[in-house]
Amino acid sequence: MTTDALAPGQTIGILGGGQLGRMLAMSAARLGLRTHVFEPGAMPPAGEVAGMTTTADYRDREALAAFAGGVDVVTYEFENVPAEALDLIEARVPIRPNRRALAVSQDRLREKRFLNGIGLATAPFHPVDSASPNAASILRQAMEAVGLPAILKTRRLGYDGKGQVRIEDTGCSADALASMAGAEALLEGFVAFEREVSVIAARGADGRIACFEPGENVHMDGILRTTRVPARIDRKTRGHACEIAAAILNALDYCGVIGVELFDTANGLIVNEFAPRVHNSGHWTEAGAVIDQFEQHVRAVAGWPLAAPIRHSDVEMTNFIGEDLADVPAIAREDGARLHLYGKAETRAGRKMGHVTRVLGPATGP
Ligand code: AMP
Repeated sequence: MTTDALAPGQTIGILGGGQLGRMLAMSAARLGLRTHVFEPGAMPPAGEVAGMTTTADYRDREALAAFAGGVDVVTYEFENVPAEALDLIEARVPIRPNRRALAVSQDRLREKRFLNGIGLATAPFHPVDSASPNAASILRQAMEAVGLPAILKTRRLGYDGKGQVRIEDTGCSADALASMAGAEALLEGFVAFEREVSVIAARGADGRIACFEPGENVHMDGILRTTRVPARIDRKTRGHACEIAAAILNALDYCGVIGVELFDTANGLIVNEFAPRVHNSGHWTEAGAVIDQFEQHVRAVAGWPLAAPIRHSDVEMTNFIGEDLADVPAIAREDGARLHLYGKAETRAGRKMGHVTRVLGPATGP
């Protein structure tokens, strides 16, 4: 443990009260640590399992000060916390992972420049300010630079495929620009990947790194549908995936769990993006490994040693999105299927309601 490690009974503050916060709070409780969730929305999924919940806006300075004053470290499950809120918190208590990790990942352009800057390959990209009076000609230049097809994405606030539009030919570029609604954007060359892979890794407060087995992801409509572990990749690619994660973690002097999304192409791995938090494609660890990503994150931010990410099973995780929840009674009867429901009051199309991880057999792989 580091000298400033939290002792059982101390408190981790969690910004954001969704399912990731909920699973972090459950893991913290198992290690005897308390949690305090800060979330603007009423009845957050994490609120049901955390010791304390503050329901307040991220601009509520009084509520933020009280929250920061009552916790020993702050982490987040939600990346778009306003900078002023983070300034106020950071003046009182450490934030892990650090602000730089958050700032880099919040802005797709900065993220890609950072990744290229540490020698990691990404899709070709070109900034496009959709509010500029010259937006149409900037987009034309961008299309020349990255080629077609391409994807126009907002720089900020995009998730689960939101804020993105595919451009197949120059004829649809005006509509694509209009859909950015004046936001700063970037055009990304379309990557003809063979598969999508992600790697969940962690860096402890002591700088040690632990990498879970890479998983293979299938997305539908931009939302993660399934993660299968192990991914169908060879030993070399698997090693490269972990080296990529380690390079990002070290460059950011990171503490906590990270999710790195990769495209596996004929020419090797390309980084799509990273999330400075526990990640949906790491939920399989609950049923497939000795330690799950949530406990690993709690250990890291609490200054505890990381656990060895030993995998014991081949698994497939499937998200329940919206009405998929109707399948739960049948799945509850399946052998070897570990269910996790998030307790969300309202089922909405496209909303992640829970997941199931099916154990396929003992661990095999590269
Ligand atoms: P993102 O929000 O950037 O992770 O994008 C969501 C999903 O869209 C990814 O998981 C991919 O399936 C797809 N996608 C995003 N960017 C690209 C790209 N440059 N080339 C091919 N597919 C992409």
